[in-house]
Amino acid sequence: MEDMKEKVAKAFKERFGQQGTTYASSGRINLIGEHTDYNGGFVFPGAIDKGIWAELAANGLEKCRVYSMDLDDYAEFGLKEEDAPSQGWARYVFGVCREIQKRGGKVEGFDAVFAGNVPLGAGLSSSAALESCFAFALNDMFNNNVISKFDLARIGQSTEHNYCGVNCGIMDQFASVFGRKGHLMRLDCRSMEYEYFPFDPKEYRLVLVDSRVKHELKDSPYNKRRESCERVASRLGMETLRDATMEQLDAIKGDISAEDYFRAKFVIEEKDRVLAVCDALEKGDYETVGKKMYETHRGLSKDYEVSCEELDFLNDIAKECGVTGSRIMGGGFGGCTINLVPDGLHDSFIAEAKARFNEKYGHEPMVYDVVISDGARKCE
Ligand code: ADP
Ligand code: MG
Repeated sequence: MEDMKEKVAKAFKERFGQQGTTYASSGRINLIGEHTDYNGGFVFPGAIDKGIWAELAANGLEKCRVYSMDLDDYAEFGLKEEDAPSQGWARYVFGVCREIQKRGGKVEGFDAVFAGNVPLGAGLSSSAALESCFAFALNDMFNNNVISKFDLARIGQSTEHNYCGVNCGIMDQFASVFGRKGHLMRLDCRSMEYEYFPFDPKEYRLVLVDSRVKHELKDSPYNKRRESCERVASRLGMETLRDATMEQLDAIKGDISAEDYFRAKFVIEEKDRVLAVCDALEKGDYETVGKKMYETHRGLSKDYEVSCEELDFLNDIAKECGVTGSRIMGGGFGGCTINLVPDGLHDSFIAEAKARFNEKYGHEPMVYDVVISDGARKCE
């Protein structure tokens, strides 16, 4: 990715007449562990080789001057709450500055140029890449790196909440800040403990297939899923489904609705699948990893009921092509599937998925190869 570094450095020099320091951060995937975060379970993300690169330098002024290369747009803003810029993209940068200040950190005026290669809104979290790139940079430039990595992730999350109107969890920012080449991270959403696991498949590729459909549904299906989980947990006398077992769930089967039963069943099984995938990765057993991905898809589709026709169709194509693992990535009702594809099937699977999807739905899905890579960093 030297070319991205050179690209922002060159544009910075042209615009501001000097050299700054280049920082970068990454988008993310989640291999397995869906709808587990609000149930106190595990997620299993990793940073990818697509991200944001930014060149920055302190400018000795009381304002920030920031240029987005991809949008060819420029924003200038001060560092007080009332100085919020109007452009949506600039609010991510401004929000990061403000959230650092709110936590007692220092931010002075700076100039910046940035560009990225994470597809926006495809479920790879370009926004977390942007936040964590600037949070990492400002920690390095003005705070001697005293802000902890977890706080950098929280600064990104609070930016989304307070400046961008997105009520997200911590996974995206966590993955973007903590990401490490060749490793996925199991994050315990209850204790916030995390552990790295090797993910460096030699004979497989990770491929995202973006259906480019998003079904807007009435009566917030996510809240309904949450409520089901909460009802079952409280029926079991637990705070969340984290510690629940299938035996315990089966014991109360007659007392809860069939719908609640299947929602909880998915959550309990999904937690066990994350743990099974971690074990498999320690043995380099990618076939088991893939099998678990298919099981997750089935659970999301049949038990949790957050899939849609297009995603089930993509999953079926993967299965028919002999792809090792495939599942919905993200909340559901549209978006991407994530696929673990044997090298030898890579091209034929993509061709088949594009052609058959196009034939049925009138547009091709977008396809992205991703490699698990480092997260937020300074580019030396
Ligand atoms: P995603 O799922 O990719 O995070 P979001 O809607 O959360 O999608 O965030 C996308 C927003 O983040 C964009 O609308 C833009 O404001 C900002 N953004 C992300 N990447 C870039 C970029 N390369 N240049 C400018 N803005 C970006
Ligand atoms: Mg986002």
